[in-house]
Amino acid sequence: MKRISLNTQILLGSLLGILLGFWFALLGQESDIAQNGLYVAKLVSTLFIDLLRMVLIPLVFTSIVVGVANLRSHRQMNRVWQIALVFFVSTMVCSVMLGLTAANLLQPGNELQITMFQDAMQGFKATQMSLSDFFAHFLHSLFQNPIAALAQGNVLAVVIFALLLGIALVVGGERYRNILILMQEFLELILMLVGWIMRLAPFGIMALLLQLIATQDTHLLGTLIKFVAVVLGTTLLHGVVLLPLILYLLTGMTPLKFWLGAREALITAFATSSSAATLPVTLRCAEQHLHVKRDVAGFVIPLGATMNMDGTALYEAVAALFVANLVGMELSLLQQAIVFLTAMLAAIGAPGIPSAGMVTMAMVLQSVGLPVEAIAILMPVDRILDTIRTTVNVEGDLIGSLVVQKWIKKQDGLNK
Ligand code: ASP
Repeated sequence: MKRISLNTQILLGSLLGILLGFWFALLGQESDIAQNGLYVAKLVSTLFIDLLRMVLIPLVFTSIVVGVANLRSHRQMNRVWQIALVFFVSTMVCSVMLGLTAANLLQPGNELQITMFQDAMQGFKATQMSLSDFFAHFLHSLFQNPIAALAQGNVLAVVIFALLLGIALVVGGERYRNILILMQEFLELILMLVGWIMRLAPFGIMALLLQLIATQDTHLLGTLIKFVAVVLGTTLLHGVVLLPLILYLLTGMTPLKFWLGAREALITAFATSSSAATLPVTLRCAEQHLHVKRDVAGFVIPLGATMNMDGTALYEAVAALFVANLVGMELSLLQQAIVFLTAMLAAIGAPGIPSAGMVTMAMVLQSVGLPVEAIAILMPVDRILDTIRTTVNVEGDLIGSLVVQKWIKKQDGLNK
């Protein structure tokens, strides 16, 4: 019998997860079937995410070291990170602009009063995070003892250390060849583990989607429907129209070809709501399905997973305008510009884990004097919004790697 491909298995798993989720939601949380089903789903999904997390740090470390070290010439290395950064920042600018424009036109939250949410806000302990605190914290998190960063799973600090080590390997040249070979072989082994973990993906994704749907609070979704619609609509517009258009214009790749190559990563991002947990899958898709050279993908994708978050930036901006409407505060152009900037910073600083955007949003709200407690209002709908914004975040990283590869090739072609 012909084996069903992994992609088809993942698709079937997703469909089954959605159907079972609706069934359990209909049965209600008290029913034995739903309770037992949810228990099993929790076990399976935790196992899947734990396995992805297990390989995450060694993968980020080796792929960046190898990626940077193989971009042998300084000029080539400079170009890769410059193009990657320009791409990341400009796509984030587009997404925030899109979000702000839609929020200004449609004014979500205008029809609601903040007093309606008093109860939710009272039980919420806001983490105060001013712009200066945020900066200090961000800077501090960049440079850490690498052993501690590796052990604690601090992705950003690992990225920075690996970058520096990669650069040192380039500068050191032939003399450190053995270390480079060691890293390369280690990376190959980790990628082999990722391949094994992916066999569990159909079950992991099924379990995640099942829980997402079965435990959704539809009542609150109803109250915040306009806000949810604006966020989802603009995020989808960015992910389905704008990003693929940029990809097509810059590389000539059609959206269909891209989505077929990227679907494993996009579905995993949707189900896990974590760019970091998805990273092993994203790298695999970039290299194996989209044919991005390992040296480019190994550098651009982990960097993107930690700093390039179009969906998160858009969400933070729309949420700030929503809260402003709730409290009846008209934001001036200058205040909107501040929202624009802080939303981007908050997205860059947010780690790629579920609901990270909610935490860094405190800074955006505070920067224009909005009540930070209002985050409590958004909490119940965050889980559902996080799915789409994480998917778009990961999509942006994959497109970034394709764009960087194309531009490098255009200029002089990779050595390898
Ligand atoms: N969950 C998102 C991610 O991992 C971050 C966020 O909360 O916006 O990309």
